Amino acid sequence: MSEEKVSYWNPFLETLPRDKLIQIELKNFRAILDYAKKRAPFIREKFRDISPNDIKTMKDVRALPLIDKEDLRTAQEGKEPFPFGDILGVDIGAVNDFRQTSGTTGRPVYVPETYESWQWRIEVWCHILWMAGFRETDRVFVPFGYNVYVAFWEGHYAAEKLGCMVIPGGALDTKGRINKMIEVKATALLNTPTYGLHMAETAKKMGIDPKDIGIKKMVCAGEPLPQATRKMLENLWGARVYNHIGGTEPCGWASMCEERTGLHVIEPFFLVEILDMETLSREVEPGEMGVAVVTPLGRHSFPIIRFNTKDIVRRGEDGCPCGRTSMVLSEVVGRLDDLRKIRGVLFTPVTVEEILRREFPVVGEYEIIVEKRGVMDEISLKMELHEEIGASSLGELINSLRERLKMKTNLRFNIQLADPGELPRYTLKSKRFKDLRRGPLDGTK
Ligand SMILES: [Zn+2]
Repeated sequence: MSEEKVSYWNPFLETLPRDKLIQIELKNFRAILDYAKKRAPFIREKFRDISPNDIKTMKDVRALPLIDKEDLRTAQEGKEPFPFGDILGVDIGAVNDFRQTSGTTGRPVYVPETYESWQWRIEVWCHILWMAGFRETDRVFVPFGYNVYVAFWEGHYAAEKLGCMVIPGGALDTKGRINKMIEVKATALLNTPTYGLHMAETAKKMGIDPKDIGIKKMVCAGEPLPQATRKMLENLWGARVYNHIGGTEPCGWASMCEERTGLHVIEPFFLVEILDMETLSREVEPGEMGVAVVTPLGRHSFPIIRFNTKDIVRRGEDGCPCGRTSMVLSEVVGRLDDLRKIRGVLFTPVTVEEILRREFPVVGEYEIIVEKRGVMDEISLKMELHEEIGASSLGELINSLRERLKMKTNLRFNIQLADPGELPRYTLKSKRFKDLRRGPLDGTK
């Protein structure tokens, strides 16, 4: 197959005019809601006064209730059939894949898949990987043991469906994985941003320039990936690095095309609404930030309607040089759980990561800590440096960093230097932000 500059996994759907896409999505939204009301007691109860056939426009959709992770836990805990409970949309005998959320906050959500719904997820992931230039000539290395977590399983099966050669890289340490990638001549990687950086650092310690490993494309999952970190990964690996966003409950639902400036919603597989953060009732305009609410439109095993992902994204302008017509997100800002009000200012830790990676390459590992001193919120940045610098250069560095942080976040940071190796290291997902006050938005939950 020739690799043209732009090619689509599904040329028909990926170039349909927007109004046609929305018509298809509304039709499938009515169908999945109708189905779910018949099969899943939780949906029947939550949408009891709603008749699917009355939903004609996006405005009608916005009038419906939202579902969040806590609702799903409640629908499952102590309910039969175990462990999926009242949100299971098929007979338990039809479930042939068990996945769950990583459960870093609270109990996990258990996600059932039938053969059919699993194929639907893989088809979505084919769009994601194809957009990132994965082709049948690629050898795709997946440097994780996937366990019950879904994203790398999806990537694995989708890469197979594309005709790639897939090499599962679990049960090896990082050095073993690097050696394996070289041995099998891997050309593509599925990764988390944190592990992408960690692997590059490890390779360098082994005397190997990560660029020489031969990886040409990398799709990242699992964490927000600010543009500065994405570009850093591209420079380290000499590869094209693609961001994507998704979750265990809805599936991956938006991903970068070859332009790598924003993400395309995988339409019409999902109906995605980007809602204002205050009221969750208005769709934001291009350029505005909002919370993503996602309805997967083709999975009957786990029929979630208007799932509040708590992912904050920025809506982009419609249209993209690649020719795809789907909704564009210009940026994944972070998790609503990470959004904090500090001295009355909305703050998200990704902003700090963006400044450090883009403008202060001498800064290595870092940690952001918010705490209360008396009645005042204090925010500190603890950082390690890649190399030792003299006292006067250090003073200059701290001053200019404090100034840039103040300008971008409106907050005055207390900046401290940590000894090399003092801060915790992360290999899979990072936890560099610690809020030691009490609640999520204002410290008073
Ligand atoms: Zn595009």
